[in-house]
Amino acid sequence: MMVPYGHQWLDKEDIKAVVEVLRSDWLTQGSKIKEFEDSLCRYTGARYAVVVSSGTAALHVASLAAGISAGDEVITSPITFVATANAVIYCGGRPVFADVQNDTINIDPIEIKKKINKRTKAIIPVHFAGHPCDLKEISQIAKERNLILIEDAAHALGAEYKGEKIGSCRYSDMAVFSFHPVKTITTGEGGAVLTNRKDLYEKLLILRNHGITKDRIKFINRNDGTWYYEMQELGFNYRLTDFQCALGISQLKKIERFIKRRREIVKIYQSELSKLEDFVLPIERSYVKSAWHLYAIRLKNRLKRKRKVIFDHLRKNNLWVQVHYIPVYRHPYYQKKYSSNDKCSVAEDYYQTEISLPLYPAMKTSEIQYVINIINQITEVKRKCK
Ligand SMILES: *Cc1c(COP(=O)(O)O)cnc(C)c1O
Repeated sequence: MMVPYGHQWLDKEDIKAVVEVLRSDWLTQGSKIKEFEDSLCRYTGARYAVVVSSGTAALHVASLAAGISAGDEVITSPITFVATANAVIYCGGRPVFADVQNDTINIDPIEIKKKINKRTKAIIPVHFAGHPCDLKEISQIAKERNLILIEDAAHALGAEYKGEKIGSCRYSDMAVFSFHPVKTITTGEGGAVLTNRKDLYEKLLILRNHGITKDRIKFINRNDGTWYYEMQELGFNYRLTDFQCALGISQLKKIERFIKRRREIVKIYQSELSKLEDFVLPIERSYVKSAWHLYAIRLKNRLKRKRKVIFDHLRKNNLWVQVHYIPVYRHPYYQKKYSSNDKCSVAEDYYQTEISLPLYPAMKTSEIQYVINIINQITEVKRKCK
């Protein structure tokens, strides 16, 4: 038995939806793009959605639409995938890392405040493991300081904050999703930016397509004829294909089932692992519903300094556990580029002890039990050694 930390769920309906598009005339830029965007809007409650070729592309165009450019600082979490901070650098900006809360491992609003200065342009909080950040507090800070707020919601499609879906953008300017196979729903590669602001929506559309507009009323130069279009700024080919969008539409129909199954698995983990004393288990605040992208446990007591050994033991037993994440500023590229970047002490302590256990909707009950048995084994082995 090999149990990975995450895995997609694909069924016959998904395959049928993709094949239908493959048999049609349009592989890219057909009707499925708008249809997928509309279903994302309906699901989250946001007014506009722009689907792109990856979550990273989504972060990039969102950062550009936000106007992040050379000399700007952007505050984000160190406990994230490198793509969050990289997007800021693509735009010429500088990521500044604010420490996380010790329970949710989300960026701490108090720490955000400490990092704001006159160069600060935006805040990119990450809904770590699918648990929403303190959006209300963070949006208050952003409003007071006139900062753009972009949610990195790559983990959090399906999550809720104070009764509303993440992606509704009630508290933010934009929210970014990823449809990589380990995330809540998948299109292979893929991502989206959601927003309620028409001005940002229009910018995002142009940035996705080389900076080109075909909209006559937007032309800067003379309209030469019906073939005419204009490239007005430097954009990219970040388009998502029609067959990927067909997969996305089909996947989104199943999202409530996916989330429900994730929650069931977490419930089993919580009740079984809370019997053992050596782990700090993840929490869920009363006013949120986590999408449970990850089940991140921390070692404590006598296991605290044994992470390496335990991690290897789990891998040897075919549990494809992971560590989420190495604090971004620890990567050599970041160390070299920003030699003065300050360490975040909560993030550091977290990084030393974290292990992500397998969690995905397609997990079988026998696999969940297997994970629990192996975890029980390590605590027993350690007990005997004492
Ligand atoms: C997955 C992920 C991304 C990047 O998404 P891709 O679709 O893989 O490009 C960005 N941020 C976070 C937090 C992620 O987990």
